[in-house]
Amino acid sequence: MALRLLRKLNVRPELRGVVNLSSAAAPAQLSDFDVQHKTPVVRKVHLVPKAHYGGRHAVTMLPGGGIGPECMGYVRDIFKYIGAPVDFEIVDIDPNADNDDDLKYAITTIKRNGVCLKGNIETKSEAAYVTSRNVALRNELDMYAYVLHCKSFPGVATRHKDIDIHIIRQNTEGEYAMLEHESVKGVIESMKVVTASNSERVARFAFEFAKKNGRKKVTTVHKANIMKLSDGLFLETSRRVAKDYPELEHNDLIIDNCCMQLVSRPQQFDVMLMTNLYGSIVSNVVCGILGGAGIHSGRNYGDHYAVFEPGTRNTGTAIAGKNVANPIAMINASIDMLEQLGHHFHADLIKAAVDKTINEDHIMTPDLGGQASSTQVVEAIIDNIDLYMKNKVSFH
Ligand code: ADP
Ligand code: MG
Repeated sequence: MALRLLRKLNVRPELRGVVNLSSAAAPAQLSDFDVQHKTPVVRKVHLVPKAHYGGRHAVTMLPGGGIGPECMGYVRDIFKYIGAPVDFEIVDIDPNADNDDDLKYAITTIKRNGVCLKGNIETKSEAAYVTSRNVALRNELDMYAYVLHCKSFPGVATRHKDIDIHIIRQNTEGEYAMLEHESVKGVIESMKVVTASNSERVARFAFEFAKKNGRKKVTTVHKANIMKLSDGLFLETSRRVAKDYPELEHNDLIIDNCCMQLVSRPQQFDVMLMTNLYGSIVSNVVCGILGGAGIHSGRNYGDHYAVFEPGTRNTGTAIAGKNVANPIAMINASIDMLEQLGHHFHADLIKAAVDKTINEDHIMTPDLGGQASSTQVVEAIIDNIDLYMKNKVSFH
């Protein structure tokens, strides 16, 4: 790591005083979340664990594989510098393990802390009974909704401008049921499981989210013309739920047409609701047209827990350890996490510094067309944090 960055990591005492005071004065409360902060709020969700020790929160950190550990390092550097009132409980998961002991431990800590920041966990074991740990984690914590906010960064050169889409994806079933078998030799069957209860929960989440965040339209994406029962149930459920939200426009679109519309005229979309696999594909399409895997963050929600991670859930194995990975997606995930915990001052400060670094200073990694290394981007963000603090900029 660059010397300059190391030097900066000694938190300035006056800065520490300001930020700690601010967080202690405003401990995390569910009522803190409002339209202004654009944080999704669903009435029934009780996601915010009580702060302890003078407003500090314990949060589980799962660095995962590939670029996960280095990106977590940058988040910790920034949090340390600004004195963010968060203590990380770090759990490493062995990608070669043939058992899920690490994962079970990680899940226990998330259940205790309520909130987690996560990289992509690798599963290298080829044992048939060892399935994706990322999927298992989401299922075990019943995090049925995934939210990916895809908003254009004006400083990133892209074909399409002014995109502001929220993708809301069913996160625990559908094509990710991981139930496959060979019925007779050479014939594989794979189950796509769609339930009325989960379709209803995620649809309500999407409409409630749209309403709370002042959005205008929800689009259900499906393939109900072919998968008449499974996608049919998902679509019908969203149509029924839509009736409870007459103030919001609701339409639907077949997934094929949706992809074509997205790459030709993405500005037409507002909030998009879809099943698990379509959500993964559409997320990657939208992130792709906005600059790639390195910028946007995603949020997993259930009724009790929230897990924050880079939006496209990439491992980035090929670029790990080379100081070229874009740190922004993980930093944005950490901002989402701070907002969730009610630490708006710290969230807004880091967000403003990130936006300035990309949009005004144009300091970016090669994936966004820049020439900076990962650490140079982080240094620039810390410089901008400094600048905002010196000028006592208020974000409200
Ligand atoms: P792999 O697992 O093969 O290393 P991924 O599937 O994780 O790759 O990522 C897909 C592509 O996105 C790769 O080209 C990877 O380098 C790129 N990518 C993922 N995350 C980042 C990032 N944070 N910064 C820059 N490029 C990234
Ligand atoms: Mg991959």
